[in-house]
Amino acid sequence: MRSQRSTSGFASGKGLLALFALTILLPGVLLSAFGIRGLLHERQLAEQQVRERLDQTAAEIRRNLEFELRRWQQFLEEPPAAPSQDRYVSVGMREALIRHDGAVAMQQDHGRVSAFPPRRLLYRREAGPEPPGTSRSRELAAAESLELRERDLPRAIQAYEALLATVPAAARPLVIHRLARALRNAGRPEESLRRYRELVPYAGARIGLVPADLVGRFESCSIMAEMNSNDGPGAALALYQDLIEGRWDLEKPRYLFYADSARRWAERAPELSSTLQELRAREHQKAALTEKSFQALDEPRRDLSGENGIFLAFWRDRDNSRVVLILSPEYCRKELWPPILGNSSTAPIAVSIAAPGGRLFAGEPLTGSTGLSSTQTAADGGLSWQVSARPRDMQALDRGISWRQQLYLGMISLVIVMLGFGGYFLVRTVRREMEVARLKSGFVSTVSHEFRSPLTGIRQLANMLEQGRVPSDEKRQQYYTLMRRESDRLARLVENLLDFSRMEEGRREYRRDPIDVSAWLGGLAEEFRGDLSGQEARLETTIPENLPAICGDREALSTAVLNLLDNAVKYSLPPVTVRLEVEAAGTDISIRVRDKGIGISDEDQAHIFDKFFRGGSEATQTVRGAGLGLSLVQHIVTAHKGTLHVDSRPGEGSTFTIRLRSAT
Ligand code: ADP
Repeated sequence: MRSQRSTSGFASGKGLLALFALTILLPGVLLSAFGIRGLLHERQLAEQQVRERLDQTAAEIRRNLEFELRRWQQFLEEPPAAPSQDRYVSVGMREALIRHDGAVAMQQDHGRVSAFPPRRLLYRREAGPEPPGTSRSRELAAAESLELRERDLPRAIQAYEALLATVPAAARPLVIHRLARALRNAGRPEESLRRYRELVPYAGARIGLVPADLVGRFESCSIMAEMNSNDGPGAALALYQDLIEGRWDLEKPRYLFYADSARRWAERAPELSSTLQELRAREHQKAALTEKSFQALDEPRRDLSGENGIFLAFWRDRDNSRVVLILSPEYCRKELWPPILGNSSTAPIAVSIAAPGGRLFAGEPLTGSTGLSSTQTAADGGLSWQVSARPRDMQALDRGISWRQQLYLGMISLVIVMLGFGGYFLVRTVRREMEVARLKSGFVSTVSHEFRSPLTGIRQLANMLEQGRVPSDEKRQQYYTLMRRESDRLARLVENLLDFSRMEEGRREYRRDPIDVSAWLGGLAEEFRGDLSGQEARLETTIPENLPAICGDREALSTAVLNLLDNAVKYSLPPVTVRLEVEAAGTDISIRVRDKGIGISDEDQAHIFDKFFRGGSEATQTVRGAGLGLSLVQHIVTAHKGTLHVDSRPGEGSTFTIRLRSAT
């Protein structure tokens, strides 16, 4: 009967689990799977969208770049409108070239080099054309001879001064220069300085190969530096600036000589240092552009890299002429890239343009890439420029869909968590129910058995007595005692069952009477000894006199202690000795029931107070019991605000302790 019941319990449990799996778990899992698939799909879609945007951006920038490169190239292809530098006017890109001084167009025609816009370069590559030699008058030659050969400076000065009054205007600068020089050598710097200054207005004239105004200003600065004049550095700075601006068309060594000297003199005034620094930076930029232009004239190479980036160059060769357009990195940064790249510097997409050599040309380097990027190749006369676009801020790109993803994810997680909880509680409940079903079925068969054996005993004894088959009085007395004990046991069993059912229903009420512990337990021990008579068992007690009284339900507490004593006898092998000890400590009264019986395993100890639980050992199975005793004891003790404690080791015995509070 027991196995049948438990199998059907199992079956119903399994059925419930199957039903749960079919109706809740399966749809839940399917739903979650679809949700996750949807999420992944959405992610892919988002990536697709981002990719399309990247492609669009890269394509747009590629088109801009191609357009711009073509424009500049076409500009060079235009046939010259006029033999002069003004040919560039026709294309309307003149303004573009003029706007920023980082760009220059060079033309080399039969070896002659010209640049546009003029003054853009710092110096010329080769010496300029020899100016028509100024014929010297005899008087000048004589004066020079006095100065240089005879070293008679006073007379030479006189001769120059005399000459100055008579020479034609065109020859004046040369005479002024010689006079100034002689005065300086004669140790008359102030007068020399005045004379040199007279040269400054003669902008078109030359002294030898050098413009007269440059000579005038340079020598003035030199004298002022010698004299430590306060005006010296300022004049030198102005000279340096004019040299950088390209006021004079000088070849490189001459330029370097004048510029270095002027700068050195200007450096003497600390207050000019910041202006000087700016000028020097500008000189550097112009020098770089100048050098690159010469390089580009000689050899058409694409990779004209400089300190601050790459110079962009365009060539056109025709017959004996070559036209080259050079754009410096600064020019590209300020003029070329902004219209090509648009406002991409603030957009969520970062773009870059790599030169044909693979080096970054414009935009931002492709670092920290998310893996998503689009690269396009801009064709330019067979060369390829790589235009790349990648997301700068992936989140900004897909912010729109990310909240939806989070919502889905949250919902799926919630469903999974709820399913998990539901499943866990269901399994737990089913397990418990199955366990209770198993225990109950065991209980029914045990209880029936419990009833049957005393009843059988009583019936047999009663039969024998009825039929007068017990001759001696002594025997008869013994049988009566036996019948009473059996019926006592039955009564206790019934009492236990009734108590249990009342307890289960919550109907059990406990009285609160004062109890004299010594007298109560003494009486109880006597009663129990009576029950043991005729058995191989004895009870030893340690019950001190004058124990403090407690307050409680005497009957219920007696049931509890008797149950413990009963168990102690039941779960011991004969000859049985059971001890009942009472001890008072402060307000605590401990009632201890000790045996040297079979003991309880650790595993069983965790469950012995559960209803219907019976120990798993073989020895226990041979003993009668319904698994209710200890749960009843527990209930009674707890109702009296006491504690119940077990201390046991298999094979060594057990000690059950009830701890109650005294009434005082
Ligand atoms: P029952 O004795 O009817 O089985 P109880 O609730 O009184 O039910 O006890 C539960 C279980 O605890 C017993 O089946 C037994 O395994 C164990 N047990 C109780 N008291 C003792 C004891 N004194 N010695 C060994 N085992 C005990």
